[in-house]
Amino acid sequence: MSAVASPTREKMLVGGEWVESADGRTFDVETPAKRGTVVAQVPRSGPADVDRAVRAAAAAFPAWREVAPRDRGRLLLRIADDVDAAVEDLARTLAMETGNAIRTQARPEAELVADVFRYFGGLGGELKGETVPLGEQMFSYTRREPFGVVAAIVPWNVPVLIAAWKVAPALCAGNTVVLKPSANAPLAVLELARICQTHLPKGVLNVVTGTGEEVGTPLAEHPLVRKISFTGNTETGKAILRLAADRIIPVTLELGGKSPQILFPDAADERTADGVIAAMRFARQGQSCTAGSRLFVHESVFDPFLETLAGKLAKMKVGDPLDEANDMGAIVSRQQFEKVVGYIDEGARQRGARAVIGGLPPTEGPLAAGYYVEPTVFANVRNDWRIAREEIFGPVLVAIPWSDVGDAVRMANDTHYGLAAYIWSRDITKALRTAHAVDAGWVQINQGIGQVVGQPYGGFKESGLGRENSLEGMLESFTQRKSVTINLGS
Ligand code: NAD
Repeated sequence: MSAVASPTREKMLVGGEWVESADGRTFDVETPAKRGTVVAQVPRSGPADVDRAVRAAAAAFPAWREVAPRDRGRLLLRIADDVDAAVEDLARTLAMETGNAIRTQARPEAELVADVFRYFGGLGGELKGETVPLGEQMFSYTRREPFGVVAAIVPWNVPVLIAAWKVAPALCAGNTVVLKPSANAPLAVLELARICQTHLPKGVLNVVTGTGEEVGTPLAEHPLVRKISFTGNTETGKAILRLAADRIIPVTLELGGKSPQILFPDAADERTADGVIAAMRFARQGQSCTAGSRLFVHESVFDPFLETLAGKLAKMKVGDPLDEANDMGAIVSRQQFEKVVGYIDEGARQRGARAVIGGLPPTEGPLAAGYYVEPTVFANVRNDWRIAREEIFGPVLVAIPWSDVGDAVRMANDTHYGLAAYIWSRDITKALRTAHAVDAGWVQINQGIGQVVGQPYGGFKESGLGRENSLEGMLESFTQRKSVTINLGS
């Protein structure tokens, strides 16, 4: 395996100290831009490290919950300012470890992290309770209290932004946190932790690096963890929910998707083609939970619209994620690359789908040096094939025609997922009726943007449980309510 000139040697954050794993083991982080290139060595933790971090978080909790919410918020606002100053460093690290293109993905992700800390930093005063009218003989009110130690487990596709979505509201609400990044992308998360640590008391935020098995499971099982906030694969989410059931602890799950896009003939134009490409997250190699990866197009415009789409996708520049000229970078890891290639092979060769553009990745030339897959659109696909049902998490869009909108909605809903949906029509009545008929936690009409801070976010069906990313999400996911009732009678 080749290595860059000097891979960095990272440490993780436990109880305010930067430490190695208990037994000194490490794992390699590679850049997907160039096969087999190690960029960093990171502590490979196990249950003993998890225990140390959870105990540090538990020890920090009593003092942290005593800090007035507005003062906790002030610290988050300082973190936001420092993140602003570190955007370029964060963006480069993200591009290197995830393969996401710096201009279109990594830099915008880093910029949004500051927004998230700023948003939640301003919400300290909103941790309000209510008074309950029980008559003149009683005074009853509710309080919003933190849970204690929150386990925040995050994936690799938008690692530092998803970490921020959990850490900022959890801390604002008075919890302490043990954060577990993905072994594919721990580096930018560690950089964010470094910034946070300059403003937070010791132990309030801890980061433990390692695999799902060696760190994620012991963290989810730890008796001092009082709440789990997880973003990742649906199967992993189910495993975590089972672990949490043993101790009856609350869990928020942000899971996978296979989100539909329904296109009416009145919107089959160039602008919609740009929107469909954005919704499919081609610029992030399709590696987004909200990727609109099933495109249902009215039969009257099916072929010409796919041609317009293919024309635009052909112009997307794929290559080195650190090159500002590129629109799209590399798939995060060899394992993920092989999974995506397997689906393309199955769709094209075994099922006979028609590749309108793209297909198997090049085996020679500059793109063969890393895990690059070009934008791929399949037609002649049936909605019950694996490529139309399973989350590929790659730049692979399947297109299916419809003639009756009822059928389009039925096909859109014929999935165990329900995260996002996209409706394309200039007729607002049709668009709204369709938006209300699809099973999805977030429906967008005539746009395909990524998650917006301030709006409750989460999935229907097997795409999730609970809501995050908003004031409501913070209150629901990171506080528990206590009722206090006082006898005012004689
Ligand atoms: P993953 O489930 O494999 O891993 C997510 C995190 O969980 C990682 O930190 C991993 O180490 C850890 N983990 C793995 N197994 C574990 C276990 N048994 N116990 C505890 N922790 C464990 O997911 P991934 O491959 O990193 O990310 C891609 C998935 O995430 C996709 O399915 C995608 O749709 C989903 N995702 C969802 C959202 C959302 O908001 N709904 C956002 C981004 C990604």
